[in-house]
Amino acid sequence: MKHLPRVLVVEDEPAIAELVCVNLRHNGFTPVWVDDGEAAQREIDAMLPDLILLDWMLPGRSGLELARRWRGDARTRAVPILMLTARGDEPDKVAGLDAGADDYITKPFSTQELLARIRAVLRRRAPEKTDEAVQVGQLLLDPGTHRVSWRGEPLKLGPTEFKLLHYLMKNPERVHSRAQLLDRVWGDHVFIEERTVDVHVKRLREALGTAGVLVETVRGAGYRITAETR
Ligand code: CA
Repeated sequence: MKHLPRVLVVEDEPAIAELVCVNLRHNGFTPVWVDDGEAAQREIDAMLPDLILLDWMLPGRSGLELARRWRGDARTRAVPILMLTARGDEPDKVAGLDAGADDYITKPFSTQELLARIRAVLRRRAPEKTDEAVQVGQLLLDPGTHRVSWRGEPLKLGPTEFKLLHYLMKNPERVHSRAQLLDRVWGDHVFIEERTVDVHVKRLREALGTAGVLVETVRGAGYRITAETR
């Protein structure tokens, strides 16, 4: 099944939140609506979203404060934030971007504009969420057709192994800790133990056959995929 990006919508105006959520749902996203920062934090603690749509003016903590906090936290640092601001609040926009928001959109906005901004931010911040084919050495993965091949021969992978391989191949040569992989591949490290990663890496290597050597264990650090096997 295709991964539907989870969008956490932090917005205290129900009419706007509803409009946004309906449109997200119709366009291949899974929206989760909360109306203040505390509820947003609870959602994030339970499951990391793929993107946060954050209203500037909220009861309690402002969107600006929340953006700063999430950028400062290792767990949420990589989650894209798109801020919603009122018309003409130029200083707000600058402050929002300074606080770590990836982009902002001015109310009132069109649905098409919102969707375009969300897609653009997701492409920039999380390239593994897009459908472009990736290659490491002679290993090829095509998310569009859900196919993996090694030296031209097709390989069969389970859904989790596919996601794990896709993430590794999008970020080759870099070492990823188990915690990072849980967050980026499973999207939620709260309910899954780190050794789950080891189990799926083992399965991935088995499924890759002779290409399994490309997936390296870096002792004490994690895993990486490399085109340069020793
Ligand atoms: Ca508001």
